[in-house]
Amino acid sequence: MIDPEINEILMQNKEHFVIPASRVATVQADNSLTHAFLVLTKVRYSKIPVLGADDQFEGLLSMPMITETMLGLEKLSFDKLDTLCVGDVMQTDVATIENPYDTEDVLHLLVDNPFLPVVADTGEFTGIVTRREWMKTFNHLVHTVRG
Ligand code: AMP
Repeated sequence: MIDPEINEILMQNKEHFVIPASRVATVQADNSLTHAFLVLTKVRYSKIPVLGADDQFEGLLSMPMITETMLGLEKLSFDKLDTLCVGDVMQTDVATIENPYDTEDVLHLLVDNPFLPVVADTGEFTGIVTRREWMKTFNHLVHTVRG
């Protein structure tokens, strides 16, 4: 269990915990891989959320999931990028959180994941919690706690 006084200091930074969905780069599950390839190249994030109808969270997409479909024996082929869609190659076993202020849960999951999608109980994607924002929160903590 996290010390309540420590948690109180962590929560002083709570307004920065979630990057809202409106500021997160995403692709749609029915987008072609050509479109997704262009998006990932432009945004420069290694993995981004995949959404379905009504902003439902569907999974995550990274460039290797796309380039895997391009591998031939001796050369790369772009042929499949127009016939396959994001939903065909995305990662679906994803750790998500419903409550971004559940410190215990978030810290545990951020050990193995650079970011966590925040998903409402309706399945709607509402934003992400990143390791980077949490590192800033820790920085605040270690400069605030007095022995
Ligand atoms: P960071 O901790 O800011 O380096 O972000 C870690 C990971 O979270 C990035 O590599 C991306 O996969 C994802 N991420 C962070 N910010 C965004 C964003 N605005 N849109 C999409 N993905 C993001």
